[in-house]
Amino acid sequence: MKDPIDVHLPLPADEIRALVEADHKHVWHPFTPMQEWYEQPCMIVAAGDGAYVIDVEGNRFLDGISSLWVNVHGHRRKEIDDAVRGQLDLIAHSTLLGTASVPAIKLAEKIIRLAPEGLTRVFYSDNGSTAVEVALKIAFQYWQQHEDPKKREKKQLVSFHNAYHGDTLGAVSVGGIDLFHGKYGPLLFPVRKVHYPDCYRCHLGLTLPECGIACLEELEKLMDSEADTLAALVIEPLVQGAAGMIMAPPGHLKAVETLCRKYDVLLIADEVAVGWGRTGRLFGVDQEDVRPDLLAMAKGLTGGYLPLAATLTTERIYEAFLGPVEEEKTFFHGHSYTGNPLAAAAALASVEIFEKEKTVEALQPKIEHLTAGLERFRNLEHVGDIRQRGFMVGIELVEDTATKRSYPSGERIGMKVAMEARRHGVLLRPLGDVMILMPPFIITLEEIDKLLDVTYRCIEAITQSA
Ligand SMILES: *Cc1c(COP(=O)(O)O)cnc(C)c1O
Repeated sequence: MKDPIDVHLPLPADEIRALVEADHKHVWHPFTPMQEWYEQPCMIVAAGDGAYVIDVEGNRFLDGISSLWVNVHGHRRKEIDDAVRGQLDLIAHSTLLGTASVPAIKLAEKIIRLAPEGLTRVFYSDNGSTAVEVALKIAFQYWQQHEDPKKREKKQLVSFHNAYHGDTLGAVSVGGIDLFHGKYGPLLFPVRKVHYPDCYRCHLGLTLPECGIACLEELEKLMDSEADTLAALVIEPLVQGAAGMIMAPPGHLKAVETLCRKYDVLLIADEVAVGWGRTGRLFGVDQEDVRPDLLAMAKGLTGGYLPLAATLTTERIYEAFLGPVEEEKTFFHGHSYTGNPLAAAAALASVEIFEKEKTVEALQPKIEHLTAGLERFRNLEHVGDIRQRGFMVGIELVEDTATKRSYPSGERIGMKVAMEARRHGVLLRPLGDVMILMPPFIITLEEIDKLLDVTYRCIEAITQSA
């Protein structure tokens, strides 16, 4: 039997032209300067196959970003395809408001079995931003329903500069990336912000390990003076992804947890990017044996198939929402597609692959291969920093490595490298001038070599001509 891809692709040239025209006429792309968009070649994805995405002309591209950090076991993974098709034979959607559903129940059970200890309850939503919103609202309401009236003063949230927790306004309020979030200032609620360790550009001008993670002092001071009014702290464990793969040194997360416990501040782990294996453990918090009060997951949850998110919490927090209806302790939150059965079926199949194939264990030699292969990037004149945690890599390009001076943003160096890589069959999407490598876990060692080779050569070509 012929592969469906070969049956459908390539599309006829006039159809492709019509698609490009319609895209340019009607589609507003996310996080995209649209004026620049029209000047770039319009890559239209039509199919996928393992670690590759395939465009309408039938060209194959190694998916160096896991279709924006979501894909885990590869595209068109048979077990997940079958699970979604199987669920389609039953029902595509039913609501969790007033009814339960088979895949949502099974998935919750499975997630809890694998999640960090202490987390026992699953609240579903549709994406990472909503999973964070849910966590923030639960944390806030938890204290409002506390039996000790003094604890009801705990209303403020703590987050980190350069944090990214999504694009809805609550998530933006706890976010800290000026370029993305600055414009919406007047719409946001106030949040206490502290520095995340950024060891390449330390705001204190210190270096590890001599500093002893001195940037933690700011958080300790804040908690020490204002604990009575602090409800929760939200953190991206280990890695601030969207900030450009900023990586916290070992011990930082544990120290944050210790402070949260000492001052009775709830710890919210935003595992949307790092969760489901990305850092080389199933969850980021597993790396430092941290037990958050709330944990948000999304991107990799369905293996990168369908939009689904979950916010996990503990019995202690959940119980604060129990009581007679008239006490109004209910969590009044939910979305039309909350816990969608198709997405839950995909997630269930993805989690089963994690268990059956020991995906995280199988990833270890690939992580080492990636580490070894990144070493030679240090020879490149314009590579300022190379950051890696598991299968998350950021290669920061700078105009001058001695002073760490960035390129003017208008030069679009990162974007130019990505466009060049595309001409060599690799799909990348940078964050500014930080080249991101986040391939699906099924990538082979040979494909890792190709990803690295093309990235290396394209950085070299673009930065030397700049
Ligand atoms: C991507 C991301 C989000 C937002 O998830 P969406 O599904 O895009 O809404 C939130 N937090 C982190 C850490 C992320 O990387």
